[in-house]
Amino acid sequence: MDFTSAPVSQAVPTEASLQHATASLIASLPDEGLGFEHIKKHILNDISPGFTGSSRCPNYYAYTTGGVTDPALFADWVASTYDQNVQVHLPRDTVATTLEATTLRLLQQLLSLNEGEFPGRTFTTGATASNVLGIALGREFVVAEAGRRKTPPINTSVAELGVLEACFQAGVTDIQVLATLPHSSLYKAASAAGIGRGSIRMIPLSDKEPWRFNMEALAKHLSGEAASIISISAGEVSCGRFATNGAELAQIRRLADQYGAWVHVDGAFGLQALVLPHTEAYKALNDGVSSLHLADSLAGDAHKLLNVPHDCGFFFTRALDLQQTVFKNPGAAYLSTTAVSIPSPLNIGIENSRRFRALPVYASLVAHGRLWYRDLLERQITLARRVGSYILDSTTYELLPNDNVNQIYMVVLFRARSESLNAQLVSRLNASKQLSISGLPWKGQPAARIAVGNWRVDVDRDFGVIVKALEAAAAFPSK
Ligand SMILES: *Cc1c(COP(=O)(O)O)cnc(C)c1O
Repeated sequence: MDFTSAPVSQAVPTEASLQHATASLIASLPDEGLGFEHIKKHILNDISPGFTGSSRCPNYYAYTTGGVTDPALFADWVASTYDQNVQVHLPRDTVATTLEATTLRLLQQLLSLNEGEFPGRTFTTGATASNVLGIALGREFVVAEAGRRKTPPINTSVAELGVLEACFQAGVTDIQVLATLPHSSLYKAASAAGIGRGSIRMIPLSDKEPWRFNMEALAKHLSGEAASIISISAGEVSCGRFATNGAELAQIRRLADQYGAWVHVDGAFGLQALVLPHTEAYKALNDGVSSLHLADSLAGDAHKLLNVPHDCGFFFTRALDLQQTVFKNPGAAYLSTTAVSIPSPLNIGIENSRRFRALPVYASLVAHGRLWYRDLLERQITLARRVGSYILDSTTYELLPNDNVNQIYMVVLFRARSESLNAQLVSRLNASKQLSISGLPWKGQPAARIAVGNWRVDVDRDFGVIVKALEAAAAFPSK
């Protein structure tokens, strides 16, 4: 029986394990239960060998998953055992909401964000949910702001009246989300928030650097009739690059204030770059995150680079009042709370009843500390850059976007120069099942992406594993 988080070498299960796991599933509900002992054996012996090694295998580089640190794993068991419902702040009944509030502050300290500037903070299920919060707050703000800017000014609220009525009152006929290469979840957020996937408009700098904003075009879009939310990809999902540098973000802040726009940052894994030291090696990364504190809302993921279990994301905003306007859970006298220092979680996010996600984050942050997280990210970047250098020197592979290795964060994007090799690249790289790499399109062509997110990273060992896979894929006879 294996309840530990001991590392494994399989990044994905063998075909046989997967088939066995699938065939073993009990698909008709037993009248008489099979018992706890039975289900334990079933899960450990039959089912879990059919899981990916996303957490336990250091060479799982698909998506951006991260692993689970030992303190986080321990705390997650405790969270399940005590099953606290972090819904209402009841400081005389449980320390849970106080711990959650404390943990959100620790997280802001890790990211060098000023606690006073971002009083709106909550844990979410992930960056997708955090993007929904950001877009929902942005929608509330830009429509209300359009109303305030009318002559004569009017007060209106989407949260109270709905999108149709509030937009009608404010004279808003179009809400747009201005972005560059947004994560797919931003489209979901736009749909869920009632402004529509079609409201997302791409403002790329150029074909060469589509993840950056064309600042002139952005200013032009903002000056038009539409009410605008600006969404900044701080850590573009495919290539890991940052949409803005510090000067551009400062300019975006000025433009947003001028035109009544909302600035949201999707920093699912990019926000973590705020832990890096300010050195020449990280100049591009430092600059990519240097002014993110000027945004109105920030979306982050804890189950990625923070290495706590799924699911856990976080959301910060300057506008706690707006957050409560949008997510207020009205009425329900039995849910009321007299304490004002910690806002009731049920008034600042999507859920009412919630899992005690804060405990694993608290455990990992306190057990490891700031410098451990900094060192971890530096090792992840070092591995990514060493792989980047190898690819840059290679005649078989091509680094994407094809520039300076010092721009690389913890994501390496590349393709094979030969079209026939490139077509089979990801399946060949993953053939040994000792590592897992994602395939995705880049500028219309297949590409491969390595995202280094696990805390078990070991630069020398893992570089060897990756190079072995790159060499084996290249040596495979082409057909
Ligand atoms: C992963 C990711 C998301 C979505 O996060 P989930 O944790 O899957 O909800 C959003 N944006 C970016 C940039 C991401 O990398």
